[in-house]
Amino acid sequence: MEVVVVGAGVGGLAAARGLHRDGHAVVVLEEAPALRASGGAVTLWPGATAVLDDLEVGAARLGRRLARMERRSPDGRPLLSLDLRAAGGAVVTVPRGHLVDALAAGATRSLVRTGTRCAGLSEGAEDEDGGGGGRPAVLLDGGGRAEADVVVGADGARSAVRAALHGDALRPTGATTWQLPPLPTGTAVDDGDTCLLLVGRAGMLGLNPCGDGLVQVWWDVRRQPASGAGEAPAGGGPLDAPEEPAHLLRRLFGGWRAPEARAALALLDDPRARLTAYERGTYRVHRPWGRGRATLLGDAAHAVPPALAQGTNQALEDAAALARALRRPSAAADPAAALRAYERASHPRTALVSEASRREPTGRVLPEALLRAVPDRAATALLRGWLRATSDRTTGERTAGHRTSGDRAA
Ligand SMILES: Cc1cc2nc3c(=O)[nH]c(=O)nc-3n(C[C@H](O)[C@H](O)[C@H](O)COP(=O)(O)OP(=O)(O)OC[C@H]3O[C@@H](n4cnc5c(N)ncnc54)[C@H](O)[C@@H]3O)c2cc1C
Repeated sequence: MEVVVVGAGVGGLAAARGLHRDGHAVVVLEEAPALRASGGAVTLWPGATAVLDDLEVGAARLGRRLARMERRSPDGRPLLSLDLRAAGGAVVTVPRGHLVDALAAGATRSLVRTGTRCAGLSEGAEDEDGGGGGRPAVLLDGGGRAEADVVVGADGARSAVRAALHGDALRPTGATTWQLPPLPTGTAVDDGDTCLLLVGRAGMLGLNPCGDGLVQVWWDVRRQPASGAGEAPAGGGPLDAPEEPAHLLRRLFGGWRAPEARAALALLDDPRARLTAYERGTYRVHRPWGRGRATLLGDAAHAVPPALAQGTNQALEDAAALARALRRPSAAADPAAALRAYERASHPRTALVSEASRREPTGRVLPEALLRAVPDRAATALLRGWLRATSDRTTGERTAGHRTSGDRAA
């Protein structure tokens, strides 16, 4: 089949890589003049690392495999410690740029047409022989169209394909994630295999080792960035705010006595420490989320804020689910039915993540006595249950229907 994917982010590239491997003719349209390999580090849970293994992109060599996730109070007291080695597979933190480059390596890069912006969608008229409508086409900015058997909108949190299908906007959560690029941290912040989360009334602070001695630092605060100079671009980006961001973070988190909290604020003095704001928003997860021979994937279908570390994971799960659906023998005869099957299969896990993200955790301070009362083993079991529910692929159980060798597209 001919497939046009809009957007060369993690989701679009993973989909293109899998579909190309399966024998489909794939083109990826990316509005940016080059692949957008910037951003902070993303956490990959076992389902996503399994998907990447299938795509021959070994996640562990791109970043840091984590062994523990610890929750502490603002003054550094340990509250919970989760054993990530019991998560059912590798948990890896990886700089987003490393992931984008690895997914685009080899033949996949030649599928990408950069500097090509999708301005809309033409859904194609009903055809006479079924197949859920005629061939759709992406309408290109500046004129021209890219027609295909199937169009996949993987164009992120401000998706043009979604706008054409549903016309709805991202719903802000009222909180913002401020993050630094992955930085070498010296000795004050551990770059080992433990990821730290400190939660207090001011918000959350996360410190994630992501390989090569680098640590990703981020702060979540319950407020919108003041948008004096415009709003954050798709997926986030530099944002000017009337209150200088470093000043804001020092004011909110300056009273936290944990050594890591102080070390994180000290990083703001590093000339490389350019703060980026991610305005937190969610998309409603429509059912179905596509129409005819057009569908959505990743943030375009179900954008969620970064705090649950699920955006990249769900995009990778979607990419694998889409490839499975288009591999079915009936897909070529009825692409629309195959797309609806993909959406039905993906809906439960994405709706769960979306619902959990709606219950915005930033600034919600649970009593420390309660957190300390939960045994670490019980907390690890809860995490494992959550990961099972939000993945098609966790705990090493390769469920029936996943790709086997010799399983090629028609
Ligand atoms: C540059 C960048 C940096 C990011 N940094 C972080 C981060 O530090 N932490 C974090 O948690 N998340 C980050 N994200 C978001 C994160 O990558 C996604 O939430 C997640 O990986 C799901 O990816 P996606 O492929 O669905 O969307 P995205 O990764 O957002 O990719 C969408 C792609 O579509 C392209 N695009 C958008 N509109 C059009 C159009 N009309 N026509 C053609 N192409 C279009 C975009 O340029 C982009 O390349 C970042 C996203 C981007 C684009």
